[in-house]
Amino acid sequence: MSPYNPFGLQDAELLRHSPYVDGQWIKGDGAPLEIRNPANGGFLGQVETLAADGVARAIEAAARTLPHWRALAAKERGAILEKWQTLIVEHADDLARIMTLEQGKPLAEAKAEVLSGAAFAKWFAEEGKRVYGEIIPPFQNDRRLLVFREAVGVCAAITPWNFPSSMIVRKTAPALAAGCSLILKPAESTPFSALALVELAQRAGVPPGVFNVVLGEPAVIGQVFTRHPSVRKISFTGSTRVGRLLLAQAAEQVQKVTLELGGNAPFIVFADANLEAAVTGAITAKFRNAGQFCVAANRILAHESLFAAFVERYAQAAAALKVGDGLAADSQVGPLINRKALERVQALVDDAVAGGGRVVTGGKPHALGGLFFEPTVITHAAANARLLREEIFGPLINVQSFKDDDEAIRLANDTKYGLASYFYTRDINRLLRVSEALQFGMVAVNTPIIAAESSPFGGIKASGQGREGSRHGIEDYLELKTVWVAEDR
Ligand code: ADP
Repeated sequence: MSPYNPFGLQDAELLRHSPYVDGQWIKGDGAPLEIRNPANGGFLGQVETLAADGVARAIEAAARTLPHWRALAAKERGAILEKWQTLIVEHADDLARIMTLEQGKPLAEAKAEVLSGAAFAKWFAEEGKRVYGEIIPPFQNDRRLLVFREAVGVCAAITPWNFPSSMIVRKTAPALAAGCSLILKPAESTPFSALALVELAQRAGVPPGVFNVVLGEPAVIGQVFTRHPSVRKISFTGSTRVGRLLLAQAAEQVQKVTLELGGNAPFIVFADANLEAAVTGAITAKFRNAGQFCVAANRILAHESLFAAFVERYAQAAAALKVGDGLAADSQVGPLINRKALERVQALVDDAVAGGGRVVTGGKPHALGGLFFEPTVITHAAANARLLREEIFGPLINVQSFKDDDEAIRLANDTKYGLASYFYTRDINRLLRVSEALQFGMVAVNTPIIAAESSPFGGIKASGQGREGSRHGIEDYLELKTVWVAEDR
């Protein structure tokens, strides 16, 4: 029997199995990581990992190359980033296949993610050229006051498995454009997507030592990143639990920290909403990536006048979604990332039902077995049900009804999180009033899509700090330096 080898890439060199430090694919000295396909448990390969010393060497390589990289003209760094973007687009089919195999999402979603990530490389290639300083009118006429905006220095990026490609480009492209060197630690279940991006960055001409990737024990790597005096910034996307931990650890060296953490997005359907559009929007906002994304709709609030009609149509649409292996052309909902995630989704259903929640559709593992779960719609969950209070990260949601705008806003804001929020209305006054009242970093009106390279992405409260994308996305990688100059009279 031939071994399971599902990759079949057009460019086999994209499949890398080891850390990349100082321009070299290096042998690890830690325990190797086994990577499996969540759709069928198939063994995809193993990657080498580094212990603490190896991670420190990667930081030192980044620190050594920093002066050279920072000294290049923004246009030169931009040209390399544009080349990276071009290569990512050229290899999008291979990159998508790698992602679906290790992460599980449908191939079309994986390809869309690869392309949307690539767009950040081009965007920041341009933004890097617009890092303007200032000349401030002096308080005395023999003085000049200048403000430079300079690269922060060596950055460490820690990324999650749910968007294993775009999260990386979103962090590394602004860092590189600003003149920072960096060390990336991708999630342990999706290293192949990260390593393929680095292979392409190397081909694009990123010099040795500027962009390093380490793999290994997350807690150990996090400690090395936060204890090493050369690391000036940590950029993290992941759970609020780990984000808090890193923020506390970063206090030791007073590192700058950007955090994209969990969410608990409300999705409000007002009485005047276009019902059809709201149903379709709520399907996308909940079920893409099997619900495993931080801006996923987490609670639907439907006005009492259309509650019954909404629930009926929404449950029908959810039940019609095709669950299956992401490589199958018609799959719309892939597997969950691992057994723990599946068990957690089941526990959230059971908790809701125990508190009076009614399952309208789904509610249990899918007949396909493995890590597949049925798209699930619940109603009447109790106010303290876990699926209303916690980030769900799975294909499951409750729909509750509300009486008026004040109640909808109060319920929507009743969470420690503040990342994304959604609402559907056709009333222009309500649009403005509700947008202002929602306590979230992002508000989507009549659309389920909330991310693009031109848009500031990020949250408030327990959802994090800092923004990625847009002209603001490069700010976190820059420091101000004030220069006073006195005339020598
Ligand atoms: P999720 O629950 O989505 O996996 P995590 O916050 O656990 O979210 O993971 C996001 C990223 O953080 C991953 O790359 C993971 O390896 C990393 N990570 C987990 N624990 C730590 C830690 N103690 N220090 C640094 N990074 C960590």
